[in-house]
Amino acid sequence: MTGRAVLVTGASRGIGRAVAALFAQHGDRVAVHHRDSADLAGELVASLPGAGHIVVRADLADPEQVRAAVDGAAEQFGGLDVLVNNAGVYTPHGIFDTSYEQWQHEWRRTLDTNLVGAANAIWCAARHMRERGGRIVNVSSRGAFRGEPGQPAYGASKAGLNALGQSLAVALAPYGIAVATVAPGFVATDMTNEHLKPPRGDEIRAQSPFGRVARPEEIAEAVFWLASPGAEWASGTIVDLNGASYLRS
Ligand code: NAD
Repeated sequence: MTGRAVLVTGASRGIGRAVAALFAQHGDRVAVHHRDSADLAGELVASLPGAGHIVVRADLADPEQVRAAVDGAAEQFGGLDVLVNNAGVYTPHGIFDTSYEQWQHEWRRTLDTNLVGAANAIWCAARHMRERGGRIVNVSSRGAFRGEPGQPAYGASKAGLNALGQSLAVALAPYGIAVATVAPGFVATDMTNEHLKPPRGDEIRAQSPFGRVARPEEIAEAVFWLASPGAEWASGTIVDLNGASYLRS
């Protein structure tokens, strides 16, 4: 068995799928994580180049399921070299569009998945990387910096994810574990399908001087590099991948 052992959350579709495919193309073994897309995850694993890929299942909002998925992947691989925290939810909950009960629900679900789920996956993965080093890449969002007026819990969850990545980059460096973050703008996936239809989609594409949104493969390229052995010095970074649609200082 060759290649690194890589766990990608939310890998049955979208950005996660492109990330899983890129690692596999480079000879790594990939654990394709999903929550309720066993068929898609199974099809992906069967189609990936190379050998030794596996499917793992967990609702990331459930700490025990996260632990079982991370430990299960590490056990089947005989270790874990890379964790990509990609899974996330992005659902509308404008402040005047939601009841107080819906507001509670959206905040809890979004933070439990996007932030606490990622933190729990790191807690578990770090224990498998402690002796041998590793790479952790978190998929955040431009929204952490630019704001998400219609999805404020999402913006907050991604800002929290940025801070989590920075804190753990420091905490885990002595163990040879680098932690980095990518912050994409809009990417053409199932998550953004509805948003990208005209006329709203035209406005979104015009936010970038390139006049388009990203392809999932463009995000995967950055994730792959940040997870590479040569990227240790990028630990703690947050890489903007938004086609110059939002320039922060
Ligand atoms: P997507 O909806 O296609 O994929 C997200 C995956 O996460 C899905 O497979 C979903 O089932 C999984 N997921 C959600 N909640 C889960 C849970 N509780 N447990 C387990 N799995 C869960 O979206 P995508 O566009 O591929 O997004 C991937 C990541 O990129 C997300 O973190 C998202 O916030 C981020 N992102 C996306 C965009 C974009 O425009 N698409 C922009 C910036 C950041």
